[in-house]
Amino acid sequence: MTRIEPYRSFTVEEKGSLSVQRSLSLVAAKAPAQCQLKPVALRVEALRKSYGTNEAVADVSFDVRKGEIFGLLGPNGAGKTTVMSILATAHRPSGGDAVLFGHSLRQEPRVVRQMIGLAPQEIALYPMLSAAENLRFFGHVYGVKGAELENRIDELLHFVGLKERGNDYVATFSGGMRRRLNLAVALVHRPMLILLDEPTTGVDPQSREHILEIVRRLRQAGCAILYTTHYLEEAEHLCDRLGILNHGKLLAVGSLDGLLADLEYAEIIEMRGLPSGADLTPVRAADGVCRIESNRGVVRLFVRSAADLLGPLQRLVNRSGRNIKLEIASLRLEDLFLRLTGKELRD
Ligand code: ATP
Repeated sequence: MTRIEPYRSFTVEEKGSLSVQRSLSLVAAKAPAQCQLKPVALRVEALRKSYGTNEAVADVSFDVRKGEIFGLLGPNGAGKTTVMSILATAHRPSGGDAVLFGHSLRQEPRVVRQMIGLAPQEIALYPMLSAAENLRFFGHVYGVKGAELENRIDELLHFVGLKERGNDYVATFSGGMRRRLNLAVALVHRPMLILLDEPTTGVDPQSREHILEIVRRLRQAGCAILYTTHYLEEAEHLCDRLGILNHGKLLAVGSLDGLLADLEYAEIIEMRGLPSGADLTPVRAADGVCRIESNRGVVRLFVRSAADLLGPLQRLVNRSGRNIKLEIASLRLEDLFLRLTGKELRD
C-alpha cells in the first residue's frame, strides 16, 4: 500500500488579515473493494452477552474475511474484550452465534477453539520458562507435538524476532519482547482466525512497529485478523475495515473511507482569534454548514466543502478587523469516533 505522509500544511492565501492553512489528506485510499472479494472467514451473528442486567454485548453482527484486518474499536467498557473472549470460547454467549469457516461456535466449540489463536490483552506467559519452553507448553495444549512442534517453535521465534533469545527466561524480557512472544504463542497451532486484543499496548515505538509488521505479514499470509486498539494511527493505517462498538452495540461497520463518506460533512474549518460574541450569521446561513462548535475563542465549522465557504468567511474576517487564523482539515477517524460515541478513542 502506497502511503504519503498524512498531512501537509501550506499557506494558500494571505490577504489583509486572513491567512488560510489548508491541510491536505494524502493517505492513499484503502482497498475495501479487494476485501469484499475475499471469502468470509468469520461471521458473527447477533451475538449477545449479559452479566446480570449489564448487556456487555448487545446483538452484534459483523464478518471478517480471509486476509483482512478487522479493527474493533470502542471506548473503555464497550464490549471489545467480551466479544474476543466469546470468540476464543472462553465465555459462552447469552445469545447469537459465530460461524468460523462453516463451524458454529455454539455447536462445535472445540473445533472452533482449534482454529482460533488469541493474544490476550493481559500477557499470558510463564516468566520462569524460556521463550521456547512457553511455545512448547502452549503447543502441547493445542496438540502440536514432536518434530512439527520443534520446527514451529524455531519458525515462530524467527518470525517475531526472538531467535537469539529463545532459551532465555521470559522474566528477563522487555515489555515489547513479551508482547511479541504473547503473539507467537497465539500462532503456535497455525490458527485461521487470530484475535489480537490491544497487542501494542504499553510497548515502545520500535517494538510497536515490529508488532505491526508481524500483523501485516499474517494478513499477507491470508489469516483473518480481529484487532482491537486504542491507537488511532493503527486503526486508520493498519485495519482494512472497522467496527465501532459502544455500550455493547455495534454502531457502524465499514472501511474508514466509507464510514467517513457516510457523514453529512467532510471537512472541518477551525477559526482562531475571533472576538467573543462575533456574529456568525453569514457562515451559519451558508449552504453546507452542518454544525458549529465554539470553545474559548475557537470556532469549528463542520462543512460539506470548505471551498464553498470562502466568501462568507472572508466577510466575517474583514468585519472582525483582527488577525484570524483558519485551518481546514479533512475528517479523520477521531472525528467519526467522537461523533458516534461522544468519547475520544484514547481516553
Ligand atoms: P477496554 O477497552 O477497557 O478493554 P472493553 O471494550 O474490552 O473495554 P469489556 O472488558 O468487554 O470492554 O467490558 C464490557 C462490559 O462488560 C463492561 O461493562 C464490563 O464491566 C463488563 N464485564 C466484562 N467482564 C465481566 C465479568 N466477568 N463480569 C461482569 N461484568 C463484566
